[in-house]
Formats: sequence, C-alpha cells, structure tokens
Amino acid sequence: MISLSLSSSMIKTSVPGSSCTLFSSRQAKPAPAFLRVISGEGSNRVLIETTASSESSVDETTTVSGGVQDVYGEDAATEDFPVTPWSLSVASGYTLLRDPHHNKGLAFSDRERDAHYLRGLLPPTVISHDLQVKKMMHTLRQYQVPLQRYMCMMDLQETNARLFYKLLIENVEELLPVVYTPTVGEACQKYGSIFMRPQGLFISLKEKGKILEVLRNWPEKNIQVIVVTDGERILGLGDLGCQGMGIPVGKLSLYTALGGVRPSACLPITIDVGTNNEKLLNDEFYIGLRQRRATGEEYSELIHEFMTAVKQNYGEKVLIQFEDFANHNAFDLLAKYGATHLVFNDDIQGTASVVLAGLIGALKFAGGSLADHRFLFLGAGEAGTGIAELIALEISKKSKIPLEEARKNIWLVDSKGLIVSSRKESVQHFKKPWAHDHKPIKELVNAVKAIRPTVLIGTSGVGRTFTQEVIEAMADLNEKPIVLSLSNPTSQSECTAEEAYAWSQGRAIFASGSPFAPVEYNGKMLVPGQANNAYIFPGLGLGLIMSGTIRVHDDMLLAASEALAEQLREEHFVKGSIYPPFKDIRNISARIAAKVAAKAYELGLATRLPQPKDLVKCAESSMYSPSYRSYR
Ligand code: NAD
Repeated sequence: MISLSLSSSMIKTSVPGSSCTLFSSRQAKPAPAFLRVISGEGSNRVLIETTASSESSVDETTTVSGGVQDVYGEDAATEDFPVTPWSLSVASGYTLLRDPHHNKGLAFSDRERDAHYLRGLLPPTVISHDLQVKKMMHTLRQYQVPLQRYMCMMDLQETNARLFYKLLIENVEELLPVVYTPTVGEACQKYGSIFMRPQGLFISLKEKGKILEVLRNWPEKNIQVIVVTDGERILGLGDLGCQGMGIPVGKLSLYTALGGVRPSACLPITIDVGTNNEKLLNDEFYIGLRQRRATGEEYSELIHEFMTAVKQNYGEKVLIQFEDFANHNAFDLLAKYGATHLVFNDDIQGTASVVLAGLIGALKFAGGSLADHRFLFLGAGEAGTGIAELIALEISKKSKIPLEEARKNIWLVDSKGLIVSSRKESVQHFKKPWAHDHKPIKELVNAVKAIRPTVLIGTSGVGRTFTQEVIEAMADLNEKPIVLSLSNPTSQSECTAEEAYAWSQGRAIFASGSPFAPVEYNGKMLVPGQANNAYIFPGLGLGLIMSGTIRVHDDMLLAASEALAEQLREEHFVKGSIYPPFKDIRNISARIAAKVAAKAYELGLATRLPQPKDLVKCAESSMYSPSYRSYR
C-alpha cells in the first residue's frame, strides 16, 4: 500500500509499512510533524487530524484565522516565513496495529490483512468485535484485584480504543467501578508507579509562560471537552498532587462511553502546583513537583494563563470541567470563569443536578412539590451548598418566589453545627446564604428535631453520622422520610441502605453516593438508588457541544435534572429507587443532551445554527459509536 505525503509545494510517495513523514521542499530533513487521515467517528468528525512533535515550530506557523487553525500556513506564510510541513500519512502494517484509533486486533478481516500489510503479524484466526468483547470480559474477570482490572482496561484503551469503548458501553454497570470510583482512587494513589504513557497533559509551574505551547504538544487538535484537576481533593482521598491525573482520564472515558463524545475530542489535564501531601513529597517515585502547593497570586496566575491559553487555542466552545479542586478554590474558579468561558464544576453543579433529579423523580410518585418540603444537610461544602442552591433555584422558578425566600426552607449543618445567622460573619462565603435565624444547635439529631426536615441529605464525607437516633427522628416526623447518604466511599456513607430501611420500618426513600446492594425488608426487595454524577455530566456535555454553547447557565442544570427525572418510571420507584436503571445511560444521556441544548437555544447561548428540529435525534446521531470501520 502506498502512503501519500503532501506539503504546500510538493507531493511525495513513500514506501508502505509505516506512517511516513514528509520532506519539505525547503528543508532537506524529515518534518517534525504530520497529519494523518482518520476514519470517521460520528457526524462531527473532521477529515484530518494533526500531530506535532515538540521540536516543531508550531507557534509561528499555526495561526488562527476565523477560528480555524491555519495548520498549513496558508494565511501567514511568506517565502521567508518558516512553516511546518504538515503531511498526510496512511497507517499500515505494524504501525496500524500500534495505532489505538485504528487497530482492530484479531478482528481485521482477511481482505484487510492483505490490503494493509498485516499478514503474519497476526495469528490466522479472525474473530468478531462481539467475540473480542466476550473474551476481554472473560480476561478481566480473572483478575481478583480491582487495580489489575483497571490497568488491564487502561492498557486496552491504549491498544484498541474501539474495543475499550464497546466493552465499557456494553458492560457499563460492571466496569464503571473499574474505570472510575472506587478503583480510580487507588489508581491515583499509585499513579506514580503505574504511569506508562501520557494519557493527558501535565501542566506544572515549570510550564508557566509556555502553556499555549504545551497545549499544542497534544496530538489532537479538535478538542471539545477538557477535564482538569489540580489534584488537591481527589475523591475522599485528599491531596494527591500530580497523581490526580487518573480522575480526568477516567471522567473523559465516561464522556465518551456514556455521552458519546468522540474520544479524540477529549483532553485530560492535570495542573501541578505542588502538593501538601508529605507522604508523596517524601516518596522517591512521586511524579509531580516536589514542593508545597503554590497559593495566592502564584496559583491564580498559572490558572489564568491556562484558561486564557485554552480559549486562545480551542476557541469559545470548548467545555472545561473543573474536577476535584479543593472547595476554597472550586467556588472562586467557577464564579470567576463562568462569565468568560464554558466551564462546569461536576463536584458542585453535577452533584446538584443529579440529586435534584432524584428528588424531582421521587416527588413525581410520592406527591407534593419541592416547595412543600424542608431540607436539612449534614455537610456544607461543594456538594452540600451546590445541591442546596439548585434546589432553591428550582423552587424559586417553579413557585415564582424570590430565591432568598426559597432558601429559607433549606438548612445546613457543618462541623460546627447548624449554620445560623449568629455565625454569618465567621463562615466561608458560600455558606452565608444559608445562615438563617435560629438559635445555635450543635448535634445533628437536635437539628432534626428542631428543624423538622422532610429530606435529610448527607454530604459531610464523614461516615456513620446518620445514627439510629437520627433516622428514627426522621421516621417519627415523616410517613416517607427521604434520606440521601451521599458521602463516598461506602465506608464514609452517613448510613447504609439496610440501616435506613430498618430504622424507618422500611418507609425511607433512600439513595446514596456509593452503590448499595438491594435489601430485603419484610419480604419486599428494595433497590436503593445511586446518585451517581455519571447520570448527568456526559449528557450535559453532549448537549453543550452539539449546540455549540458558549456559557453554562443554571437553567441548563435544571433542564438536565428534569430530563433525568422524566426517565424514572413507577416500576423503578416502587422498588425504592429514585433513579432509572444505569444500563439505559446512553438513552438517558441523549435525552439530557436534547433538553440542555434546547435550553441553550432558548437562552441564545447556542452557536450551532439553525436549531435542529429534533434534538433527541440530533443527540443520538452525533454520539460516537465504537463499531469498527471497514478499511479499503
Ligand atoms: P467538601 O470538603 O467541600 O465539604 C465537606 C463539608 O462537610 C464541609 O462543609 C465540612 O465542614 C463538613 N463536615 C466535615 N466534617 C463534618 C462533620 N463531622 N459534621 C458535619 N459536617 C462536617 O466536600 P464535598 O465535595 O462537598 O463532598 C462531601 C462528600 O460528598 C464526599 O464524601 C463526597 O464523596 C460526597 N459526594 C457525593 C456525590 C454523589 O453522591 N453524587 C457527589 C459529590 C460529592
């Protein structure tokens, strides 16, 4: 097979067998960059993608014209202006087997093996994609240690991306805990030892002043979603510094598997400003900067350079998801960049949206409206205050009452007790809206008795805090107490499903952050719901991308919650769950995407015009499918 190389002034053929590089007409040495022809992954797929090595003078040669990168130097080039001689190449033979985007392993047909110089490089058998999935699942199930399963999955992602995504999509309930929580937590803790290949970009203080160049080192150019962490609060595990990279990598694989965003459009990023984790600082195998965390101006300047470079390089429509930032930075970053960038914080907004969806769904069957309820939270951080604010917003919109009024039925307890007006001056700014008039109360059980909530939500990160006394107090006050124990991991859950049902005589409507197995109570099988953020963010992201939205608006979060709640059926609710089954997630994501996009069009924030007539169909058809493509 022949591969084609092109430059602005010459065309050259080269020998088959591997990706070819290009010789420029002006420089008699291999060019440090190339373009490769790719097969499509959905309706939005671009025909070519670019790869630039670090030596390339991309900065001078790739200008942005009308929002499109001038990768050929067509706009800026003059005779004296050096350009990067981008080239086209077609992978074949050994290179094709090493290319995760195009590799099919044993699923290459005989005809493809002949046409693409694969004879002898594979054993003779040809198997189907389905059989490959079956075989991989069989292999994965042999591993007893979760981290081994995780590494096996990461290896597959680097070897054969379409097999990885098919496996994940078809076995989502079994594999979600492998590629994401809880296993990803352990993977981050050990990331220094298991790190093999770059799965995303590391941007550290060393790159200050050069972040735009660093972004351009990433091989994919058509980025639509970035998940970024600074590693300061990884899950419930605290500061893992640079090793937090497992989180953006895992989240983005879910964007693709659950929301259908093209894998090549996803970019995981870890910002390394140091770590305050002594264990890591003293670990000779630690992969990050060996210094304590930069704070204040030094921190803000690096983040600002990053945010500016992202917009400069990818434009206005790239979604930046902040992930696992500590709450002292998370709220400020969201507030600061929400006005200028398309930003979303899953810990604050995603959590809020999924929990609100559960409540709306539950009330659809239990009766009443949100405005009829009184809410008490244990924990007033990113999750707690984020959920509280979105509930208040929904009540305010639905009941047409001022937001301040809606907030009055929502109370929060933090580590110092009930947040009340006498504490207003001393609490962090994001807690202030919840400092209502009441006498101080220290203990949760006393707060339950005094506030008389109908809904109790745990977001403290501290396990076993919904004691028997607390649940019994809720059950005394309510025929159907709603109890959400959202803290993760399972050991930190405020109470177990079994405890919530037993201590409320089977009357509690219960959901949790970590999964709990179904519980048999008085001969009835109760299936607790899991308020998993993965219900919301992939569909929300898809909706923003497919409509070319430029800012996230709270109404889009409400739209996402309502779309998810609409998927809850009575048959799920009578079994105890306030969420639809997770196995339907691609369908659910398409419906969430459609509602979010509709809201974006309504608000005038969508740029992909005209608005498609059928947004659900549009969402479904723009979702990445992991099916193999035929190679000519
Ligand atoms: P955070 O650190 O921002 O907030 C924790 C809050 O709990 C703080 O306000 C803190 O003062 C308070 N707190 C700590 N100890 C307490 C105690 N003993 N009593 C009362 N309050 C106490 O963390 P976060 O991001 O808000 O996450 C909190 C928990 O929620 C975590 O366990 C996280 O895993 C979980 N979470 C679940 C979901 C979900 O279910 N979908 C989503 C996000 C977060």
